[in-house]
Amino acid sequence: MALINENYLKLPGSYLFAEIGRRVAAFQNANPDAKVIKLGIGDVTQPLPGAVLEGLHKAVDEMADPSSFRGYGPEQGYAFLAEKIIAFDYASRGIELDTDEVFISDGSKCDTGNIQEIFGLDNKIAVTDPVYPVYVDTNVMAGRSGELGEDGKWSNIVYLPCSAENHFVPDLPQEKVDLIYLCFPNNPTGTTISKEELKKWVDYAKANKAVILYDAAYEAYIQEDDIAHSIYEIEGAKEVAVEFRSFSKNAGFTGTRCAFTIVPKEVMGYTRAGEAVPLNQLWNRRQTTKFNGSPYIIQRGAEAVYTEEGQKQIKDLVAYYMSNAKVIREGLLDLGIEVFGGVNAPYIWLKTPNNLDSWGFFDKLLKEAHLVGTPGVGFGPNGQGYFRLTAFGNKEVTEEAVERFQKLKL
Ligand code: PLP
Repeated sequence: MALINENYLKLPGSYLFAEIGRRVAAFQNANPDAKVIKLGIGDVTQPLPGAVLEGLHKAVDEMADPSSFRGYGPEQGYAFLAEKIIAFDYASRGIELDTDEVFISDGSKCDTGNIQEIFGLDNKIAVTDPVYPVYVDTNVMAGRSGELGEDGKWSNIVYLPCSAENHFVPDLPQEKVDLIYLCFPNNPTGTTISKEELKKWVDYAKANKAVILYDAAYEAYIQEDDIAHSIYEIEGAKEVAVEFRSFSKNAGFTGTRCAFTIVPKEVMGYTRAGEAVPLNQLWNRRQTTKFNGSPYIIQRGAEAVYTEEGQKQIKDLVAYYMSNAKVIREGLLDLGIEVFGGVNAPYIWLKTPNNLDSWGFFDKLLKEAHLVGTPGVGFGPNGQGYFRLTAFGNKEVTEEAVERFQKLKL
């Protein structure tokens, strides 16, 4: 008899986006002429930068010629891309890395989801609340989460509340934790923390032999000075942190797929007997066994991000979305809505007016303004009473969305 991994049965259905789809479809059926604008899902809308397209085309042509054709590549990624990543994203900020500390992949979703495999089941994990759901669900699948309570929280996960009350800066946990997922700039709240605050987490991890899993998928959106682009800008972080980066949101790779994870050789996990083991060694073993590497063609496309043209084009792309963020942020502030994020991130997190719950506001927005966003409670219990809008739409649609907000009876 084939027994299943029963942890999968503990997972609630992917309720959030399914329920959004259901409500939008019902509305659209009842109102076939309504032009619904969607600022819900965090997917980009603008095409790939020209430099990337050129890199991709060239690589496609190489595959047509026996002398330049490539078959299986290194599972960790090609050195040509790892070297560019180190030079542009790390050495430029005074961070030294070796190419064997860079693991190129097909996405931060997979990497942030798979990383938990190299850790024991008895670790206590901590996540911010609200949170990107992948961190929680993959720990549920592994059997690390305990049971789901009526309050929407898993019994064996430590939740670090982030709300307007604490300015979206999580406090250090009261109880000892071993693995800490941090994401800054944050999805869904669009907020960040200062280097000083981040240092507290690095110090905590060092003092407790814990590991920080640092998701920096939105790093390119940072505009302000005192915010770390990499956790390795913080002293001591190379001993305790793994960092995830992606080309999805800075270069439009959500459909093209390329990302990377930094596992410095200094970061350690421990055996029960207390022996230190480099995580780099474990992740390398995991990737070489289970992953075939990101395609050569795609890695050449990602490499082109680091050309002079590519750098300019991705800056323009980020500026385009950040200009949308400003339009949304300022438009909503003018209406007296409490708004967070949207300054160093492409997400705007708003407090629902009149204390409506997240779904109540979703329905109101859909009915009165034909606008779709994401109910904050879908990202965790502490997201209740909040709502997320993305700046990834195109400019005209974003402007129209803000005009429609003015129709709301707030
Ligand atoms: N991490 C966060 C916080 C995200 O919001 C997303 C995508 O929305 C990802 C990771 C996934 O990135 P990728 O497209 O590289 O899988």
